[in-house]
Amino acid sequence: MSGIGKGIITASIGKILQARGFKVTAIKIDPYINLDAGTMNPIEHGEVFVTEDGTECDQDIGNYERFLDQNIFDENYITTGRVYQSVIQKERNLEYGGRCVEVVPDIPNEAIRRIKKVAKNTDSDFILVEIGGTIGEYQNILFIEAGRMMKIKYPESVMFVLVSYLPVPEMIGEMKTKPTQYAVKTLNSAGIQPDIIAGRSESRIDEPRKKKLSVFCNVEPKDIISAPDVKSIYEVPINFENDNLSKIILNKFNLKAVNKDLIEWKKFVNIIKNPKGKIKIGIAGKYFKTGKFTLMDSYLSVIEAIKHASYFWKLEPEIIWLSTEDFEKKSDSIASLQQLDGIIVPGGFGNRGAEGKIKIIEFCRKNKIPFLGLCLGMQLAIVEFARNVCGMEGANSVEINPKTKYPVIDVMKEQKNNIKEKKYGGTMRLGAWDCKISPKTISFKAYKQSLISERHRHRYELNNAFKENLEQKGMIIAGVNPQLDLTEIVELSKHPFFVASQFHPEFKSRPLTPHPLFKEFIRACFK
Ligand code: GLN
Repeated sequence: MSGIGKGIITASIGKILQARGFKVTAIKIDPYINLDAGTMNPIEHGEVFVTEDGTECDQDIGNYERFLDQNIFDENYITTGRVYQSVIQKERNLEYGGRCVEVVPDIPNEAIRRIKKVAKNTDSDFILVEIGGTIGEYQNILFIEAGRMMKIKYPESVMFVLVSYLPVPEMIGEMKTKPTQYAVKTLNSAGIQPDIIAGRSESRIDEPRKKKLSVFCNVEPKDIISAPDVKSIYEVPINFENDNLSKIILNKFNLKAVNKDLIEWKKFVNIIKNPKGKIKIGIAGKYFKTGKFTLMDSYLSVIEAIKHASYFWKLEPEIIWLSTEDFEKKSDSIASLQQLDGIIVPGGFGNRGAEGKIKIIEFCRKNKIPFLGLCLGMQLAIVEFARNVCGMEGANSVEINPKTKYPVIDVMKEQKNNIKEKKYGGTMRLGAWDCKISPKTISFKAYKQSLISERHRHRYELNNAFKENLEQKGMIIAGVNPQLDLTEIVELSKHPFFVASQFHPEFKSRPLTPHPLFKEFIRACFK
């Protein structure tokens, strides 16, 4: 089922094969009609991850990038919408030669064509294809069918891993295998026999349970792999190797196991397990409350970037969720921020919670709490500064108040038509853009270079008509995109760390190479 960690398992399998010296890439199949994740609700679907080439995709692509330490591109993201769109386009172009175009086999065939294209373009030894959703549901059945068709056509080159959940109900106290047995039966009825079962559970699968699963699921006990809950997701590849998973996979493909090397990764995990200190970081957002539950997925890359940077300094971060709307209602809650070592205001859209974020930023500025603003976080830091330092009462972003007297954040020229014509999907300023950093800034100290490139996802920008005014009052324009003269980074001096960027640095942070801005931010927090 969704949410049990197929993405981490896929990425971890990739990692252990990579450690054996193979070239690996991973594809995410997201069984939604949406052409990309840009138009999906983050509370429902999780974070929208952005690639170098500007694809707004599922957060699992971010997991692949972080585990494999390589960039993943647009063609590795497949949705039902994308597949149907190309089939319909080909039909219009008479590419099916006038025959009837059918759901089966034309839809699975298009999925297969896309998988093969990735194989060819990336020249990889292994293509991991993660099919989202749950076996037996209607949504992903055509992709399961694509898998079945591939296995028939290339029996030596295709294998299946079923990720299944083994609950340990509290009142029974025993790990139950029945849901997995049924999952395998359902998969069998779609014509697929799993080669490996990765059993997600709170603990490891013991021998009696492995035997039972083996009999009922027709999989050898050694091919049933435990994927127990872990303190850190980065332990998963190491756990898999303890169960010899890479060897099992390579044997099935008749490949020789070479250069097993997870040394750096193990060192990294060791730091996670033995931190030398702790820090408390607040994230101010609104995409995490759903009913009684608090979800973290909407800010996944921000959380991971905080972790990578903290581990670099051998620190364990504790993340405190600051629900921005609460700060609008209760004015006394703001003082509680004093106990935090640093605060991040991440990206977001629309006016809900915006005033709460502005209050939090004001508190950070005045009380010298390290602050990192990301995208909307930068825009609102400018709004706060304009209002409270430059005396522009009611200053705002036109996204939040289109009638503001001081539109310090305005819609980008290039975006006006998109908004007018309701062209919302995939039209923001997306992906990698250059930024030139001014010398003697915190950002320059962090990056140690003046020309950088970072990933974006926005329609609004600092209104240059107000730039001089803000600068006169002490706001530092630390980074600018030279082509558009668009402000990319602002900073404040006389503050331990006040940096905000129009781009999203979190997307480029990797476990062993944390992002420079996050690294400096965490250093300031610890200090
Ligand atoms: N809503 C803002 C914009 O479109 C910020 C977007 C974001 O934070 N990713 O510019």
